[in-house]
Amino acid sequence: SLDWMSGEQSPPPSAELRPEIPHPARMYDYYLGGKDNFPADRAAAEQVLALSPLVRISALANRAFLQRAVRTLAAEQGIRQFLDIGTGIPSAGNTHEIAQAVDPTAKVAYLDNDPIVLVHGRALLAGAQLGSVSVLQADLRDPEAILTDPAVRELLDLGKPVAVMLFAILHFIDDADDPYGIVRTLVDALPSGSYLALSHGTADFVDPAEASKGPAVYRSATAQLTMRSREQVLRFFDGLELLEPGLVTAPLWRPDQAPQDTDGQVAIWAGVARKP
Ligand code: SAH
Repeated sequence: SLDWMSGEQSPPPSAELRPEIPHPARMYDYYLGGKDNFPADRAAAEQVLALSPLVRISALANRAFLQRAVRTLAAEQGIRQFLDIGTGIPSAGNTHEIAQAVDPTAKVAYLDNDPIVLVHGRALLAGAQLGSVSVLQADLRDPEAILTDPAVRELLDLGKPVAVMLFAILHFIDDADDPYGIVRTLVDALPSGSYLALSHGTADFVDPAEASKGPAVYRSATAQLTMRSREQVLRFFDGLELLEPGLVTAPLWRPDQAPQDTDGQVAIWAGVARKP
């Protein structure tokens, strides 16, 4: 809820931010050129960037895909409710900014399990439409809790179409935590005409000998990295209808820029699908 805006709920204690441990949200912020990160995050991020120059290109391409996907959902598919799980630290062109540029009444529930996202989300919301956006702490590994969260239910009408956004988060969900079951639970709870939009890191374009090096850096971070193949990512869309052009690397999803040579090698699978 927006309770903290009225001072009824205090922000999480700063100790929870654990600046000495790399956090994926802050590493990603660093890839994107943001300033909301600590030395431990930058050191880990630099180790990943040293493995491949495509990491930063992939992060930027992911963010640009998110914006094109939200614009498409709002402007072409008429979606007015967004459940953006794994929000990340606010960056340029956040979901509510894109959606509300199409329709100022569009509603966005932002959820993340990293307390730093909540802290920065507060600052972000200072300029947002009150009552149409919330930033909530939640864990994707407990989808039932997300669907029954009173603050989510207050903002979104789950009886009407919702776009579930899982951008660059499912690769932080281990197979042991049943990522396919999580996605199914979310999609099953929503009516026909809802959408699943997601992006997912992949090692499909990397030499197998190199493929484990990125995940190895994340071993010291607060979440582990599980890259998945195109086929494995495609399974998240079982039972859904992928919009054109299907599951492609992020820059190739309805690009609004001239193609680059590296587009087909960008290590992020990207897709948007409709629940029939
Ligand atoms: N969706 C944004 C940010 C991606 S960074 C974008 O694509 O631009 C990944 C985010 O997922 C981080 O903010 C991280 O804190 C969050 N995250 C990772 N595991 C999570 C989990 N189990 N539950 C909720 N959020 C999670």
